[in-house]
Amino acid sequence: MENKKEMRQWLTDFGLDHPLVIGGPCSAETEEQVLKIAHELKDTDVTVYRAGIWKPRTRPGMFEGVGAIGLGWLKKVKEETGLLTATEVANKDHVKLALDNDVDILWIGARSTVSPFIMQEIADALKGTDKIVLVKNPVNPDLALWLGGVERLHTANIKNLGLIHRGFSTYEKTKYRNIPEWQIAIEVKNKFPDLPMICDPSHIGGKRDMIFDISQAALDLNFDGLMIETHTDPDNAWSDAAQQVTPIRLVEIMNDLKVRKVTTDQEAYQNALSNLRAQIDVIDQTLLDTLGKRMKTAVEIGTIKKDNNVAVLQNKRWNEILGKMILEGQERNLSEEFILRVFKAVHQESINQQEKIINS
Ligand code: PEP
Ligand code: MN
Repeated sequence: MENKKEMRQWLTDFGLDHPLVIGGPCSAETEEQVLKIAHELKDTDVTVYRAGIWKPRTRPGMFEGVGAIGLGWLKKVKEETGLLTATEVANKDHVKLALDNDVDILWIGARSTVSPFIMQEIADALKGTDKIVLVKNPVNPDLALWLGGVERLHTANIKNLGLIHRGFSTYEKTKYRNIPEWQIAIEVKNKFPDLPMICDPSHIGGKRDMIFDISQAALDLNFDGLMIETHTDPDNAWSDAAQQVTPIRLVEIMNDLKVRKVTTDQEAYQNALSNLRAQIDVIDQTLLDTLGKRMKTAVEIGTIKKDNNVAVLQNKRWNEILGKMILEGQERNLSEEFILRVFKAVHQESINQQEKIINS
């Protein structure tokens, strides 16, 4: 990787690289597996070794982690390789054990961030620690829950905080295991500009082939690091087998990723950028005007629907519009996913506005 950018405070204080690369298996399975992977990651860009020892599994009866015995294995990782260690904590007992056993980084998983009770319990147990604590986004795309989790930790006087974006679950099947919804991560970054934001492409993609592109997208958005699940025998991993990469593949990914500079003072770049930004501002204005016009027309339709006592939702017409827009979108290099999102939102707003008219 090249073009290292300015580091965040704890990255600097802890002597960590930027972008921070966290590698290691989804789960610690055996002492031998943990140490083997760690030794293969030792002389790479990875500075933090992850391994889940308490695993939150969606369905019972699956491998739920080796538990506290894994803490000793992580200690050995640190002694033998010098890598910092990281594991997930999901209640006060986990926190106590992880702190007593000198785990360097504790992360809070997506299934914990969703629960204010659990977040509060973890925050109370961590009170005043100078360990690094990383908060994954909640499973569902709820910005306030993520912010709330961070606020509880702030209030508990935890200074070395960071965020992990691991995508959000959806009922609809998509190509992602958890859709990225980058704008939510960007909003959280804007709200807490001093907290490093790390991307977890493994849980976003769910498939190892998707890790490179998701990682590059994150770096293009100035994320501060990556957490990538790494296993010497990914296909036989005891959890998340499809999304883990070998240490060799991790090194390739790191070499191929481009780290962008946050900004540069170069005059030509600045001029070109402000020119293009000015164009974008004009285009955005036009978009808004057009949306305003569309809604005005929808309201007029609402008025005639009301006068004729016709239902607001006309499914056939709506499906025709969508089909046409998807085709026309393709000609303009706009993905089907994008067209669907935009037009569903536009359609919903039209329905809301028409409903107001009909019920007035
Ligand atoms: C994990 O990191 O292995 C994990 C369980 O992640 P998440 O909380 O993002 O599902
Ligand atoms: Mn996992």
